[in-house]
Amino acid sequence: MTELVPRRVDDPDAIWLAICDVLHEKMPHQAFMTWFQPMRPVSYDGKRFTVAVSCRFNADWIESHYLPILKQAVTAVLGDGVEPVLSIDMSLNGKAGQRGKTRTAAATPVVRPNGHESNLNERYRFENFIEGDCNKFARAAAVSIAASPGKTQYNPFLIYGGAGLGKTHLIQAIGNHILINRLVKRVLYVTSEHFTADFVNAIQANKTEAFCRIYRNVDVLLLDDVQFFMAKEKTQEEFFHTFNALHLEGKQLIFSSDRPPRDLEGFDKRLVSRLQWGLVSELQTPDLETRLAILNNLATEDRIALPDDAAQFIAAHVTDNIRDLQSALIQILAQSSLMKRNITMELVRDVVRATSNERKRFATVDLIQESVAKEFGIPSDLLRSKTRKKEVAFARHVAMYLCTEHTKLTLKAIGLHFGGRDHATVIHARMTIAERIKADSLESSRIEKLKRRIELMSL
Ligand code: ADP
Ligand code: MG
Repeated sequence: MTELVPRRVDDPDAIWLAICDVLHEKMPHQAFMTWFQPMRPVSYDGKRFTVAVSCRFNADWIESHYLPILKQAVTAVLGDGVEPVLSIDMSLNGKAGQRGKTRTAAATPVVRPNGHESNLNERYRFENFIEGDCNKFARAAAVSIAASPGKTQYNPFLIYGGAGLGKTHLIQAIGNHILINRLVKRVLYVTSEHFTADFVNAIQANKTEAFCRIYRNVDVLLLDDVQFFMAKEKTQEEFFHTFNALHLEGKQLIFSSDRPPRDLEGFDKRLVSRLQWGLVSELQTPDLETRLAILNNLATEDRIALPDDAAQFIAAHVTDNIRDLQSALIQILAQSSLMKRNITMELVRDVVRATSNERKRFATVDLIQESVAKEFGIPSDLLRSKTRKKEVAFARHVAMYLCTEHTKLTLKAIGLHFGGRDHATVIHARMTIAERIKADSLESSRIEKLKRRIELMSL
């Protein structure tokens, strides 16, 4: 294969660009964007080319799924005998330790008409945000805000919903629309972690004035995942002042949260009330039809021929959120390109089955008991105790039920983890909860929420 850059060039950035070109050619766009685009070159010593990944999960994933492709690309650029090495750099992760201008995986600054960094990822648009019953209302509100920022009664606008349901996509779509149409000048997107880190840094470096200059001089502020401010009093206070300053001047404020404002524990009451001044809108779990539409749209974007029955199968089995749908599709594509297999039902079934098993295998009884105890506000050892108090017994049933769903343990083994109860008790718990889920929508959504949390933690 021809070398794309001379072998002696030792600038990791230049080498990485060339490697990316090769990778991009060899794999579906979506897969490239998900796994490789966020990586950063670290060093090249003639034998090893090191690139940083944001977390262990991504590193493991890339190692187990893309190592051969990565190795090929490294060889194509640097010649034989050079090994790719992955290192972990948490600062690449939009969720941890971002500082100042550090680039984020989730937010590559692209659109900047006035030399002003918005942090927006231009991929997130209304055009590729598929509408369904689950998001109709939120989407319509977002579209009208995007058309006249700061001028509707939806100020602030807060979107809430579980992980992977499209909050970041939708709020960034507002920002991108505003910038592209040049409706106002300064749009700033930040995660709440980023805001917090900036604030803490500003205090430490005695630069709070500069901090205020940045955050109070925007026309549209998009703050993602405000639940991160929970129990962070000082940051909340600063955020409160930022909010007031911007709102007073008629600037548009847009927030996302993983829960409704009233459930933001440890939030200043005044802040909770302000978050509800404008419009609060929920993103719900997508129904089958919407899941199908999203899959087909993704496939079209990536110019992939996804057979109908394959799409049906994925949409029927991957039900919890849209991020999972995407990653199922990405894995199917990766498998099909690596193994040179067509996208057959067999391949789809393998991948979907493997992913759902993988998840369940990784959940532990401890994790489940901790999550349930937290949700019900009781110490987790009560779940293993003899007490028959109604609230505890119900929580115990829920935890047992979740263990049957999310671990591979036998009923007997599960019973043992709950203070040595027998398998009949676990069967009883399972039936009780399954019935309750059918009959009681409040409990059902609570259990859904727990499932999502457990899955998220299990990954
Ligand atoms: P959240 O911020 O709620 O965790 P994201 O906005 O990151 O979720 O969405 C997860 C993934 O699903 C993203 O890649 C996003 O583009 C995609 N997605 C979410 N909702 C939709 C939708 N309605 N149509 C198309 N893609 C969507
Ligand atoms: Mg998000």
